[in-house]
Amino acid sequence: MSYDAIKSERGLCAGNRGGLAGKCNGQTYRCECGNVGCRQTYDGACSGQGFSAGWRCVKCGAVGKVEALNFENRIGA
Ligand SMILES: [Zn+2]
Ligand SMILES: [Zn+2]
Repeated sequence: MSYDAIKSERGLCAGNRGGLAGKCNGQTYRCECGNVGCRQTYDGACSGQGFSAGWRCVKCGAVGKVEALNFENRIGA
């Protein structure tokens, strides 16, 4: 996984958004399945996207099983 990247980015998304947006730097979230990524309004809006607008995990499809990572959360606790 990309926990190292996440830690180095202080919980900000290290993915890239298309077009002129460049680096995402969006808030990241973690699903109960372990998937980590930012939330975007449209699917595929960011290479690091983890969740759709409806809080659906792009990996496992769970909805609302999300924990914000931008705070002092202990990853893996
Ligand atoms: Zn992102
Ligand atoms: Zn998930």
